[in-house]
Amino acid sequence: MSADLIRLSAAELSTKLAAGEVSSVEVTQAHLDRIAAVDGDVHAFLHVSQDALATAAQVDADRAAGAELGELAGVPIAIKDVLCTLDMPSTAGSRILEGWVPPYDATVVARLRAARLVPLGKTNMDEFAMGSSTEHSAYGPTRNPWDLSRIPGGSGGGSAAAVAAFEAPIALGSDTGGSIRQPAAVTGSVGVKPTYGGVSRYGAIALASSLDQVGPVSRTVLDAALVHDVIGGHDPRDATSIPDAWASMAEAARRGASGDSLKGLRVGVVTQLRGDGGGFQAGVSQRFQEALDLLAGAGAEIVEVSAPNFEYAVAAYYLILPAEASSNLAKFDSVRFGLRVDVAGGTVEDVMAATREAGFGDEVKRRVILGTYALSAGYYDAYYGSAQKVRTLIQRDFDSCFAQADILVSPSAPTTAFKLGEKLDDPLAMYLNDVTTIPANLAGVPGMGLPMGLAPEDGLPVGLQLMAPARSDARLYEVGAAIETLLQDAQGGPVWAQAPALATTGGVL
Ligand code: GLN
Repeated sequence: MSADLIRLSAAELSTKLAAGEVSSVEVTQAHLDRIAAVDGDVHAFLHVSQDALATAAQVDADRAAGAELGELAGVPIAIKDVLCTLDMPSTAGSRILEGWVPPYDATVVARLRAARLVPLGKTNMDEFAMGSSTEHSAYGPTRNPWDLSRIPGGSGGGSAAAVAAFEAPIALGSDTGGSIRQPAAVTGSVGVKPTYGGVSRYGAIALASSLDQVGPVSRTVLDAALVHDVIGGHDPRDATSIPDAWASMAEAARRGASGDSLKGLRVGVVTQLRGDGGGFQAGVSQRFQEALDLLAGAGAEIVEVSAPNFEYAVAAYYLILPAEASSNLAKFDSVRFGLRVDVAGGTVEDVMAATREAGFGDEVKRRVILGTYALSAGYYDAYYGSAQKVRTLIQRDFDSCFAQADILVSPSAPTTAFKLGEKLDDPLAMYLNDVTTIPANLAGVPGMGLPMGLAPEDGLPVGLQLMAPARSDARLYEVGAAIETLLQDAQGGPVWAQAPALATTGGVL
C-alpha cells in the first residue's frame, strides 16, 4: 500500500484524499517510511519534520468534520532549506546558520500551511544556493537517485532528489541561475522558475535579490502548476512582488494535457542555446532534436531564433550574482544570526572575521571576495556597470525572440548528471553548467524544465527547457503539459517511472 502511495502524483493523491480512499496520515506515513528507508543513501533532507503526522491528522480531522479544503490539502511537500520555517531549522546549507530556527515563516511556507499541505522537512542545497551539484552544502552532498555516484544538480539538489526518489511528491526550490531547472533536468523531474515577482521572496534567504525566485519541483507538470497556484500571487511584504491577478496555472496545465495547444504554436529554438559550438552531450542534443520533431509532428511551427547576447550571460551573471551576494551575506556578522566564534581579547572585527572564516565554505568566500571587488570604487563601472548593460541587451534579445515565437526551447542543461567530485575543483566548469538557464533569470522571464527522455549513452534523464514572456507563466504550464503528454505517448510512459528502484533498508519498494 505505502509503496503505491509514494508513486502517486500530488494530483492523484488529492483525488484519493478528497474521496476518502486514503487519509493524509497514511500518505504522510508512507513518505516518512520512504525517507527512513532511502535517505541514508540519498541525503535529500537536512531535517525531517517531527510535526508532519500531527499536521496530517489535523487535516484528516477537519476533512471528516466537513471543512472546505484546498486541492492539495493533506498532500506532503518537501521544502528547500533556503526558506524560513518557524518550526524547523533553516540553514541554507551553511554552517553559519547551523541550528537557526527563524522567528517567522517565508510567505510561500505560510501559504502552504494555509492551503493545508503537510511539510515533510527541509532539503539539502549548496551553501546559500551557490552551486550546481549540492556538493557545496556544509552538511555533505545529496546523491542522485538514478545513480548514487552522481550529483542531483544544484543548488536545489535536495528537493529534486526527494521528488525523484519518491520521498516527497512535490517540493519547493529556489532558482537564481537555474537551481530549480537544472536539478529537475538531471533527476527526471519537472521544475519551474516563475516570472520574477510572481512568487514572494519574503523569507527566502537571499542570494541575489534581483535574480532569486521560489518555484515548484514535481514529477508532473500539473503538480507543479498546483503548487504554483498555492504559493504565487502578490505579497505586500515583498517590494518586487507583482500586484496583478494571475491566471490559474493548474487550469492551463489541464487545458494543455487535453487540448491541441501545440497546433500552430510558434516554438523558437534559440541558436545560442543548442550547443552547436560543442560542449553539449550528444545524447542531450539527440533527445532535443527528437522532441522538436515530435512538436513539428503535432502541428507546432519550429522557428530558429537568435539571441546573440546570450553568449555573455554567464559572464554577466557571475558579476551581478557575487555583487549582490556579497551585500546580502554581510548580515552574517556573528551578532544577529547563528554562529559566533569568540576571539579572546579580540576586537569586534576579529570576532566577525573569525566567525565568517569558520562559518562560510570556500565557494561562498570566493563569491563574496569577487563581489566585493566588482563593487569597489574604481572597478564598479568596468565590472558591475558593464554586466548590468549586458543584462539589458539580453532582455532585448528576449523581446526580439518573443516577437517571432510564442515559446522558446532549449535543453535544460548541457549534460546529464555528472559524477560527484568531477567538477568540484573547477569552479568555471561548474559555472558553465548554467549556460542554458541563466538568461531567463537575467531577464526575469519564466522558465520550466521537464524531462524529455533518457540519454542513450548513459541512461540518465535529459531535460527540456521552455521559456515564455514575463507574466506568461500559464503559457509554460499549458504548453509544458501538452509536451509532457506528447513525449509520454511517444516514449510509452513517464521518465520518472523508469528510475531504478533504490536498495532500501526498510524494503518499502
Ligand atoms: N548554479 C548557479 C550558481 O551557482 C545557480 C544557483 C541558483 O540558481 N541558486 O549560482
